[in-house]
Amino acid sequence: MYYVAEVDREICSSKACSLCTTFCPESNCINYSEKDKSAYVSVDRCKACEICVYICDDIAKNNAIKMKWIDNLDEGFVIKNTGIVIR
Ligand code: SF4
Ligand code: SF4
Repeated sequence: MYYVAEVDREICSSKACSLCTTFCPESNCINYSEKDKSAYVSVDRCKACEICVYICDDIAKNNAIKMKWIDNLDEGFVIKNTGIVIR
Protein backbone atom coordinates (compact mmCIF):
# COMPACT_ATOMS: atom_id res chain seq x y z
CA MET A 1 0.00 0.00 0.00
CA TYR A 2 1.07 3.57 -0.56
CA TYR A 3 0.20 7.25 -0.14
CA VAL A 4 -2.23 9.08 -2.40
CA ALA A 5 -3.69 12.59 -2.41
CA GLU A 6 -7.19 13.13 -1.02
CA VAL A 7 -9.24 16.31 -1.48
CA ASP A 8 -11.39 17.59 1.38
CA ARG A 9 -14.46 18.33 -0.75
CA GLU A 10 -16.05 20.56 1.88
CA ILE A 11 -13.07 22.91 1.92
CA CYS A 12 -12.47 22.66 -1.83
CA SER A 13 -16.06 23.38 -2.83
CA SER A 14 -15.98 26.56 -0.77
CA LYS A 15 -12.93 27.77 -2.77
CA ALA A 16 -13.63 26.52 -6.30
CA CYS A 17 -10.23 27.54 -7.67
CA SER A 18 -9.30 24.36 -9.66
CA LEU A 19 -5.64 25.44 -9.52
CA CYS A 20 -4.28 22.01 -8.55
CA THR A 21 -5.72 20.37 -11.66
CA THR A 22 -3.37 22.30 -13.94
CA PHE A 23 -0.19 21.20 -12.13
CA CYS A 24 -0.58 17.47 -11.55
CA PRO A 25 1.96 15.73 -13.82
CA GLU A 26 -0.28 12.69 -14.29
CA SER A 27 -3.02 12.94 -16.92
CA ASN A 28 -6.59 12.44 -15.69
CA CYS A 29 -5.38 12.13 -12.11
CA ILE A 30 -6.76 15.16 -10.31
CA ASN A 31 -9.77 16.70 -12.01
CA TYR A 32 -12.46 19.21 -11.18
CA SER A 33 -16.11 18.17 -10.93
CA GLU A 34 -18.56 20.90 -11.91
CA LYS A 35 -21.32 18.81 -10.32
CA ASP A 36 -19.62 18.60 -6.91
CA LYS A 37 -17.84 21.98 -7.29
CA SER A 38 -14.71 20.24 -6.06
CA ALA A 39 -11.50 18.65 -7.23
CA TYR A 40 -11.20 14.87 -6.85
CA VAL A 41 -8.37 12.38 -7.27
CA SER A 42 -8.45 9.22 -9.37
CA VAL A 43 -6.44 7.30 -6.81
CA ASP A 44 -5.26 4.58 -9.19
CA ARG A 45 -3.38 7.26 -11.16
CA CYS A 46 -1.88 9.22 -8.24
CA LYS A 47 1.91 8.84 -7.91
CA ALA A 48 2.10 10.65 -4.57
CA CYS A 49 4.38 13.42 -5.85
CA GLU A 50 2.58 15.93 -3.56
CA ILE A 51 2.70 18.75 -6.12
CA CYS A 52 -1.04 19.26 -5.65
CA VAL A 53 -0.55 19.60 -1.89
CA TYR A 54 2.09 22.27 -2.46
CA ILE A 55 -0.17 24.11 -4.91
CA CYS A 56 -3.24 23.97 -2.66
CA ASP A 57 -1.41 24.76 0.60
CA ASP A 58 1.36 27.16 -0.41
CA ILE A 59 0.09 28.82 -3.59
CA ALA A 60 -3.72 28.80 -3.29
CA LYS A 61 -3.59 28.90 0.55
CA ASN A 62 -6.63 26.63 0.71
CA ASN A 63 -5.22 23.59 2.58
CA ALA A 64 -7.74 21.21 1.04
CA ILE A 65 -5.47 18.29 0.03
CA LYS A 66 -3.78 15.80 2.34
CA MET A 67 -1.72 12.72 1.60
CA LYS A 68 -3.22 9.53 3.04
CA TRP A 69 -2.50 5.84 3.07
CA ILE A 70 -4.66 4.40 0.32
CA ASP A 71 -6.50 2.10 2.72
CA ASN A 72 -7.41 5.05 4.98
CA LEU A 73 -9.28 7.10 2.36
CA ASP A 74 -12.60 8.51 3.62
CA GLU A 75 -14.55 7.26 0.62
CA GLY A 76 -12.72 3.96 0.22
CA PHE A 77 -10.98 2.83 -2.92
CA VAL A 78 -12.54 0.88 -5.79
CA ILE A 79 -10.12 -1.35 -7.67
CA LYS A 80 -11.20 -0.89 -11.28
CA ASN A 81 -12.22 -4.00 -13.23
CA THR A 82 -12.68 -6.02 -10.06
CA GLY A 83 -15.40 -4.09 -8.19
CA ILE A 84 -13.49 -4.72 -4.97
CA VAL A 85 -13.94 -1.85 -2.51
CA ILE A 86 -11.34 -1.36 0.22
CA ARG A 87 -12.63 0.70 3.15
S1 SF4 B 1 -6.10 23.85 -5.29
FE1 SF4 B 1 -7.17 23.10 -3.45
S2 SF4 B 1 -9.01 24.38 -3.25
FE2 SF4 B 1 -8.22 24.62 -5.37
S3 SF4 B 1 -9.37 23.09 -6.57
FE3 SF4 B 1 -7.44 22.12 -5.88
S4 SF4 B 1 -8.00 21.07 -3.96
FE4 SF4 B 1 -9.60 22.56 -4.40
S1 SF4 C 1 0.10 13.73 -5.48
FE1 SF4 C 1 0.95 14.21 -7.54
S2 SF4 C 1 0.12 12.62 -8.86
FE2 SF4 C 1 -1.14 12.62 -6.99
S3 SF4 C 1 -2.90 13.97 -7.46
FE3 SF4 C 1 -1.29 15.20 -6.47
S4 SF4 C 1 -0.11 16.12 -8.14
FE4 SF4 C 1 -1.28 14.38 -8.99
